[in-house]
Formats: sequence, C-alpha cells, structure tokens
Amino acid sequence: MTKEEVRRYLEFYQDLGVKTLYKRQPLVTIHQPPSTSHLPPIVLSLGPDHDNLAKISEDIGDCKRCRLHEGRNKIVFGSGNEQAKLVFVGEGPGADEDEQGMPFVGRAGQLLTQMIEGTAKKEGLDLLRKDVYICNVVKCRPPENRTPLPDEMEICGQFLFRQLEVIRPKAICALGSTAAKALLGTKDGVMRLRGKWHKWRDIPVIVTYHPSYLLRPYNQNAKREAWEDLKKVLHFVYD
Ligand code: SF4
Repeated sequence: MTKEEVRRYLEFYQDLGVKTLYKRQPLVTIHQPPSTSHLPPIVLSLGPDHDNLAKISEDIGDCKRCRLHEGRNKIVFGSGNEQAKLVFVGEGPGADEDEQGMPFVGRAGQLLTQMIEGTAKKEGLDLLRKDVYICNVVKCRPPENRTPLPDEMEICGQFLFRQLEVIRPKAICALGSTAAKALLGTKDGVMRLRGKWHKWRDIPVIVTYHPSYLLRPYNQNAKREAWEDLKKVLHFVYD
C-alpha cells in the first residue's frame, strides 16, 4: 500500500467511528473450555472510549457505507440482554428480519429460540432467549438472501466487533460459516470448526450450524451436532 492508500483507508475507518485498528490474530483452536481467569489481558476496544450499544447504533445511523443499504427496509442492529453472558452471531437479516428490524424472527429465528430454550430446559438451566444477545455480521439484508460479500463483512463487521467489545460476553456462539469467517478469519466450514473451542480476541467461541441449515429436512445429524454444541456452550457459560 502507498502512503496515500493508507491515509484513505484510515480515514474510511475513522468515518465508521473506529479509532484504533488491530492486526487480525491467527486462528486459535483449543480443545478444552478456556478458563477466562488465565487469559492474558489482550486489549481491545475498537470503538471510541466509553463505547456503548446506543452509541454504535447512533454511529450506524442511516448507513450507506456498503451496497447492502440499497435493498434494505430496516437496519437490524441486534436484540436481547445488553449484559448477556452469551452472544449468538448469525450471518445477516432475511426477509422477516428486514421487515421487522429484529434479528432471527423468521422460521430460522423460531428454531433458534427453541434450540436455546429447549436445550437450556433439558439441561436444567434457567435461560430464555431474552437473556442472551443476538446479532448478525451484516445489519442489512443481502439481496435474495445471498451470502454477504467480503467487503460488506469487512465494513459492517466493525460494528459487530464494537457490539462484542461493549457486551464482553463470556462466550460467543457463531451460527454458520459466515459468522465463523467474520470472527475467526478462517475459510474452514462449520463441519471442521464445530466441536472445538476457538477465540475471538480473548473471548471463547463455539461454532455451530446456522438454524436455516438445520431447517432442511435431511439434516438430522447436523441437528444432533448443533444440540451438542449448544449444550457445550450453555454449560460453559451458565454452570
Ligand atoms: S450492511 Fe452494515 S455497513 Fe452495509 S449499509 Fe448496512 S449497516 Fe451499513
């Protein structure tokens, strides 16, 4: 990159409200639930000092920073407990979410609610969907529900990272390979990533299938695996 390109790049991120940039860390895979008490104090606020969700939402505003604004009805920021110990990250809004401005409210969202509340109940945990926080990598619906493109993920992902830094959950559950890619910087698919702990900065991450994949009738094995993944992360966070 030339100096001029670096200057323009930094100005672009400044315009997004990002004041500090960090080098992406290599993918870390660990085989046991990490003890957060032993984690090194890696930094890390991408956003302004005293950042909070309201400020991030304000910075997003009537966002036109990427082409996804062209077809959206509503920006889908995220919903749930702002002090949640567990955050679910999906890919992007679908038609129902775009209409209501809320994440995971369509069929896949209903399945996610059943998965969270059903698994918690079976495992004897007192947990409802409203107790966790749910958001997506991109805040506007991609046309025809296509996968977000790398530049869209890169731009909108800065808001996701600020949300995660503000909430500072005990763990993150990445729903599907797009969320895993955004958080872990990996091209690996869910089948390779699931069943192990990873990290986004210093926060433990579990990867599992996106609920819309689980809605397909032939995915019985994936449903069982997703249930195992959820059990693992729920016990880690709430035991
Ligand atoms: S997807 Fe994100 S960056 Fe793109 S227009 Fe929507 S809010 Fe802005």
